Amino acid sequence: MMNLRPRHHAPACVRARRASLLALLLVVSCCQALAQQAAAPPPAKAAAARASLTYKFVNGQWFDGKGFQRKTFYSAGGVLTEKEPRKVDEVIDLQNGFVVPPFGDAHNHNIEKEYNLANQIRAYLNDGIYYVKIPNNIRQFSVLIADKINHPASIDVIFANGGLTSTGGHPVRLYEDILSQNAYRGVAKGWFDGKAYYLIDSEADLQSKWPGIVADKPGFIKTYLLYSEEYEVRRADQTFYGRRGLNPQLLPLIVARAHKDGLRVTTHIETAADFHTALNAGVDEINHLPGHYLPTTQPAARFKISEEDAKLAARRGVVVVTTTMVGKLREKDPERVKLMYEAQVQNLRLLHTHGVPLAIGTDNYALTSLSEAMNLHEMKAFDNLTLLKLWCETTARAIFPERKIGHLKKGYEASFLVLGGNPVENFEHVKAIKMRFKQGHPVVIQSAAPAR
Ligand SMILES: [Zn+2]
Repeated sequence: MMNLRPRHHAPACVRARRASLLALLLVVSCCQALAQQAAAPPPAKAAAARASLTYKFVNGQWFDGKGFQRKTFYSAGGVLTEKEPRKVDEVIDLQNGFVVPPFGDAHNHNIEKEYNLANQIRAYLNDGIYYVKIPNNIRQFSVLIADKINHPASIDVIFANGGLTSTGGHPVRLYEDILSQNAYRGVAKGWFDGKAYYLIDSEADLQSKWPGIVADKPGFIKTYLLYSEEYEVRRADQTFYGRRGLNPQLLPLIVARAHKDGLRVTTHIETAADFHTALNAGVDEINHLPGHYLPTTQPAARFKISEEDAKLAARRGVVVVTTTMVGKLREKDPERVKLMYEAQVQNLRLLHTHGVPLAIGTDNYALTSLSEAMNLHEMKAFDNLTLLKLWCETTARAIFPERKIGHLKKGYEASFLVLGGNPVENFEHVKAIKMRFKQGHPVVIQSAAPAR
């Protein structure tokens, strides 16, 4: 009866990691220094030195959340204004382009280490994605790249550090048995404990480990629920190693501690029951839709969000992160893909209809959220205007809720993309980026390095 084989999205991640490793082995000796040199973003200092420049943007059609309006905007001190500053250093002709706020990726793990970082940054900037949320990383690596991100010439990234799970839960197996063989080769068994994950099996564990978790200054807290309605069964059965998560009764306690410390909580889920449990625990964000992957052993009903839960999520402003690419990349049977799409579209529309904020996330090392946005477009889950707003407004807000980003308005960060065509008429135009501006600076994309 318990011969269930729902696996997490690890394989896609792992394949990408392996590809990275192979690339690393091939080029490490000769190209790494070159790669860093060729594609490293300009240092923060260079950007800061130009911070005082003011710009006037003419001939732009600016997105106002409903459509595009011809307007003149200015950038002064890195912020948008419609009032002409005393001195304009430069007038920029936007050539009738369609100006939209920058895009975000609300779920990925591709920014963590120095290796290939310059190319990852370049890929994100190239796709117009300025904001990236990393729900699970190893801090001792990500802290080393701090000077390469979070400044006007690069992408802005927020990290969760290690996620909170139970003994033998996801992502323990992923790190200990799989990633230890490639991306983090050479580490001893158990090395990831307290770095890539924290094992919280009891209130006492939470009590004793919480100070260490907070001391590492996470940008938010990542937690895991996997088939939490079977928590007791999975906990006692070794066949579920890596396919279980937190005791659902501990999640509200984790949320309470996190909120007390001013930290938002994101929860990985698998089923509609996990979704319900996460909501009731008071989490701020739910990673993945139920049914991000449809195991053949499971009835589709197990992944259908209830209308009551959709309403509750909307009332609480809980963000749900899409990650539909995860299932698409994993499922090879076209009939199953069709089923999965139907289930996902049903959940997406239900959530959107009730006003749940949906953020676009990818969860694949090799891709950016451009792939996820195009997949949602292909699935016809939303009309173009809705999809555009989810990607540039909701996703940005979900990643950096405290910042004035996601809108082209007075007082907001002077960050935008100029598209060659109207993305509401044809969504493909999101790829036709003619110009990029970030926090009052033109974005210069460095040429590709050979390591990618
Ligand atoms: Zn993930």
